[in-house]
Amino acid sequence: MSKQIRHKKIRLEASSVCQLRCYSCPNASKAILPIVGSGFLRLSDFQKLLDENPWITEIELSNFGEIFLNPDLLEIMKYAYERRVVLTANNGVNLNNVDKEVLEGLVKYKFRTMTVSIDGVTNETYKRYRINGNYDVVIENIKKINFFKQQYQSKYPLLSWQFVIFGHNEHELPTARNLADELNMYFYSKLSWDAEFSPVRKREAIRKEHGAISWKEYKEKYGVDSYMQGTCHELWEQPQINWDGKVLGCSENFWGDFGGNVFTDGLFECLNNEKINYARDMLMGRQGTRDDIPCATCNNYLATKREGNWLKRGGKRRLISSIPSVLKHRIKRLFPPALKHIIDRILYNKK
Ligand code: SF4
Repeated sequence: MSKQIRHKKIRLEASSVCQLRCYSCPNASKAILPIVGSGFLRLSDFQKLLDENPWITEIELSNFGEIFLNPDLLEIMKYAYERRVVLTANNGVNLNNVDKEVLEGLVKYKFRTMTVSIDGVTNETYKRYRINGNYDVVIENIKKINFFKQQYQSKYPLLSWQFVIFGHNEHELPTARNLADELNMYFYSKLSWDAEFSPVRKREAIRKEHGAISWKEYKEKYGVDSYMQGTCHELWEQPQINWDGKVLGCSENFWGDFGGNVFTDGLFECLNNEKINYARDMLMGRQGTRDDIPCATCNNYLATKREGNWLKRGGKRRLISSIPSVLKHRIKRLFPPALKHIIDRILYNKK
């Protein structure tokens, strides 16, 4: 039986609404609508959650949508800052529509770390995947954040540039890397989930750096490794809560929930209920598959089960999960570019 956990870190989606229509995104295809729905985290719910759970130290706000569309975001940042709760957006933001006050708020309220998804260095290239987006606006917004960082003499938020590699943008990788340096951003590139959309052309160069040219090939070559299961560890380390209080457990799940509502039934109760505890045991191979658990139909679980490669919750995992987001950002900047994607996998479960 899994022991009860008092989570200091959680993931709480600030917005499941997104203005872009990226290929292969479950938000753009509306696949998330039945369970995740379309909405924003409310300030009153956020305040209640922090008031009732004063042990919370860190909250990741980004997942399926764009956090900057949430009209309460500035007040949410202010409240977290007053409560000494660290906010991050490491899963990613597109940074296309942000008020100046909110850009200033990121710095003023010491928002800690943020990943910006930018797959190109020209508007023409960027828009091929980030449909409805505008590259020039995104870069302008980054410059504004840097301006406020100077004004407030602050290093926060620490920024990362995430570049998904496609056939139509791979030639812009070196320029993007240099620009990220100029903008004081940590840069990393990653493989696309969708092998069909704009497949890479410089196959050998990409293979050399990433071990494969697509995630399909990566999985075929390496099978399910501890990295693929990294998302499952969120169930223990930083569980995902939907904007409306539903418990999703991990950042990948959009097809089922674990019951209860953290805003009305209590965070501790929901994150330790029978269903989520059963899921934890299921992932460790201590219980059989149960159809009412969202993991039962997840590819990660099915591959884990097929290979008998059950999750292990050892000291290494606990150590990684206890590292604060700012320290993780500093650690990854110490490593050369060729190793950065490996470091990201270890520290962030990034794919
Ligand atoms: S098996 Fe799937 S749904 Fe369950 S925790 Fe892992 S990634 Fe999430």
